[in-house]
Amino acid sequence: IVSYKNVKKAFGDTVVLNDLNLNVNQGEKVALIGPSGSGKTTIIRMLMTLEQPTEGTIEVDGEMLWHKEVKGEFVPADEKHLRKVRGSIGMVFQQYNLFPHMTIMRNCTEAPVHVLGVDKNEAKARAQEMLDKVGLGDKVDQYPAQLSGGQQQRVAIARSLVMQPKVMLFDEVTAALDPELVGEVLEVLKDIASEGDTTMMIITHEMEFARDVADHVLFLDNGKIAEQGHPRNVLENPQSERLQSFLGRFI
Ligand code: ATP
Repeated sequence: IVSYKNVKKAFGDTVVLNDLNLNVNQGEKVALIGPSGSGKTTIIRMLMTLEQPTEGTIEVDGEMLWHKEVKGEFVPADEKHLRKVRGSIGMVFQQYNLFPHMTIMRNCTEAPVHVLGVDKNEAKARAQEMLDKVGLGDKVDQYPAQLSGGQQQRVAIARSLVMQPKVMLFDEVTAALDPELVGEVLEVLKDIASEGDTTMMIITHEMEFARDVADHVLFLDNGKIAEQGHPRNVLENPQSERLQSFLGRFI
């Protein structure tokens, strides 16, 4: 459902990703691990169309991100095309960025109603279902400031799911949380993953979580996929010295 072909990304003279080739299948859970600055965030920001690749192509669900086909020729995509592609992707960041002046329910229904044009009652029903799923079904009338950081992050996850994205991207969603709040958020992600049908790309520094949740682990190093495979192989039987030393930091 996601495909990167020969993707290079440079900022000025700095090459951040080089010749990246990656396919993610429908329903697959991919964990991206690697040292700071190895390019993990850039990979998913490009999918969210927040960055444009310097070279190469990216496709989501059969649609090219930056180009569209018109009469057999590829032309630069317009804003309408980008919006459509973006609509099939959900992203949750470290910072949960809920709207402080809106209730939890409004936070979850605002985008479906105003961006997707979903009927208000339908959006509310979907939001209730997703908030129940993340264990916050009884908080719908509260405001973000009344919730803990872990609860706010769970709302941010529910809010993304209400949009029914084809692909969900998670960028170190527990990194800004107090340690005692990390577990509840990871549990919610594991639940979502275990339901099967959502394709997930997850950047994480939680190796145990990566092992539990991922079908496939990618180790990024110096802008390249340095090792990849089943979590058992990558995390428990690392081949390269770089990965061994990276994983050594988490023991
Ligand atoms: P971290 O774990 O710290 O988030 P990462 O693996 O996600 O790291 P990226 O955020 O993808 O790494 O960044 C890769 C490199 O690209 C870094 O060296 C970063 O400084 C550089 N970079 C990212 N965005 C920009 C930008 N807008 N302009 C210039 N350099 C950038």
